[in-house]
Amino acid sequence: MENYEIIQTIGEGSFGQVSKIRRKADGKLLVWKEIKYGAMNEREKQQLVAEVNILRELRHPNIVRYYDRLIDKVNSRIYIVMEFCEGGDMSGVIKKCKRDRDFLPEEIIWKIFMQIVLALHECHKRKDGKILHRDLKPANIFLDSSMNVKLGDFGLSRMMGQESEFAKTHVGTPYYMSPEQITDSHYNEKSDIWSLGCLLYEFASLSRPFEAPNAGALAVKIKSGKVEKLPTRYSEELQRVVNWMLNMDPNMRPSVEDLLNLSQVSLRIREKK
Ligand code: ADP
Ligand code: MG
Repeated sequence: MENYEIIQTIGEGSFGQVSKIRRKADGKLLVWKEIKYGAMNEREKQQLVAEVNILRELRHPNIVRYYDRLIDKVNSRIYIVMEFCEGGDMSGVIKKCKRDRDFLPEEIIWKIFMQIVLALHECHKRKDGKILHRDLKPANIFLDSSMNVKLGDFGLSRMMGQESEFAKTHVGTPYYMSPEQITDSHYNEKSDIWSLGCLLYEFASLSRPFEAPNAGALAVKIKSGKVEKLPTRYSEELQRVVNWMLNMDPNMRPSVEDLLNLSQVSLRIREKK
């Protein structure tokens, strides 16, 4: 802990504060996320260790980079040291656009979307244990100073197969939850794709595809599968990709590879123009 100097608190996490820090050795700006584990049971602590290990293994330009973890046994706290994302997150960008009555340019939407796809590709295609994010939402899409995406907050992510009651109790209103999760709690990589579809929809329309005052009403809307069209300023291609990801049948949704190929095609189209 003495290797770092706290600069300021920048956010409140579910289990403690998030602070901007400076690494004394070289002055590098980083953040640490405090996790108070005193009230957790053994199983939950094991889960926490598993999560930190997931984070350590993921190294990708579009995933928030993990640096270190510190344990303060006396105060029952763990500090996860990671990359500082100074551009904030996509929930902030969406809020600002709404306030200014401004839409995001389609080019920017594709760029951000593609970088999330690259990050997900890294998680879904790992040979030694596929990782599902499980909590894709604007607040977990961080940005660096150049509007590059850093997928973060793997707090609910799991290696395939593992389940945790603890994770379930800490999810907020599940706006981005797929129909199959609602009906039979079934989660696979196509559920991440559904959430990604909700994200792409929201980047364009600045509203969530499924909105309701409570979880029950939300579940009904999600299971109806009915979604408003995107604003007409956006291309048919963008609408098509949203519809593809928001397919009720998980098997009909694209895989990350499908989405990577698609970007290659649309990039070439745009270069020709
Ligand atoms: P939790 O999911 O445990 O509640 P978050 O990861 O969402 O915690 O972090 C809480 C707040 O801290 C967020 O609102 C976010 O703005 C900020 N934050 C988290 N990680 C970073 C980071 N790497 N860089 C900059 N800000 C961050
Ligand atoms: Mg969060």
